[in-house]
Amino acid sequence: LRKLQVAERLALDELLDRVMVGHIGLTVDGQPVVVPTGIARLEDAVVVHGSTGSPWMRAVAEGTPTCLAVTSLDGIVVARSAFESSLHYGSAVIFGRFERLEGDDKERALEVLTEKLLPGRVAEVRPPTRHELNKTMVLSVPIERWSLKVSDGWPDDSAEDVAGSTWAGVVPLTERAGLARPAPDLRPGVPVPASVAVLTGGVPSRSGRGGRCGP
Ligand SMILES: Cc1cc2nc3c(=O)[nH]c(=O)nc-3n(C[C@H](O)[C@H](O)[C@H](O)COP(=O)(O)OP(=O)(O)OC[C@H]3O[C@@H](n4cnc5c(N)ncnc54)[C@H](O)[C@@H]3O)c2cc1C
Repeated sequence: LRKLQVAERLALDELLDRVMVGHIGLTVDGQPVVVPTGIARLEDAVVVHGSTGSPWMRAVAEGTPTCLAVTSLDGIVVARSAFESSLHYGSAVIFGRFERLEGDDKERALEVLTEKLLPGRVAEVRPPTRHELNKTMVLSVPIERWSLKVSDGWPDDSAEDVAGSTWAGVVPLTERAGLARPAPDLRPGVPVPASVAVLTGGVPSRSGRGGRCGP
């Protein structure tokens, strides 16, 4: 049983580390609302960030009960019948109350969020200014009460359908980076950074504006 629990927590961490976006559910004045937001795992917690002026973030920061759903769509299960057709996915739901992070904890969480978006980027950009930090709210929810569901099986067709001539199998779905497009206001000669080159599978370009980056 212990091994199973550890395996499940590892699977949860793998999902949280892979998926960029979560959906936070909360109730505001009796109205349920679900808000999409970027997420990152920081040890035994999930962190999110946004504007200090954001109404939903302020509500969450006050300790209102929330639910965070994280989903990865991994494939289409093509069964021999529409009834048995389904999806491969990893899906987690985390319940709890968020706490506001301050000081070093806040800055560490922001680094983790930036690295989640683009690994290696923190070392390539300037540190945030005091003004930027003041305008940003960072919240953390502990990974304590959660559920995880993983669907990764083959079609579960009836013997009658298997004996027939209809194709069955799985079509994997993955996210992949496209070609990096330089910003219209990029100064000539600014090279593509290593973080972007690694993400897109391209070689860092020295040519800047015309720089091609990708497969
Ligand atoms: C993929 C993705 C990633 C995002 N990542 C972040 C992030 O890391 N940090 C961040 O602060 N924001 C992120 N956002 C935007 C986020 O969903 C909110 O829009 C944002 O936080 C501002 O919310 P607000 O304070 O204006 O909303 P509130 O004023 O609290 O919301 C009021 C109402 O506005 C509507 N609303 C708010 N957001 C949305 C939305 N996204 N789509 C449709 N209706 C909406 C809802 O009806 C809501 O009830 C992300 C959005 C997406 C789709």
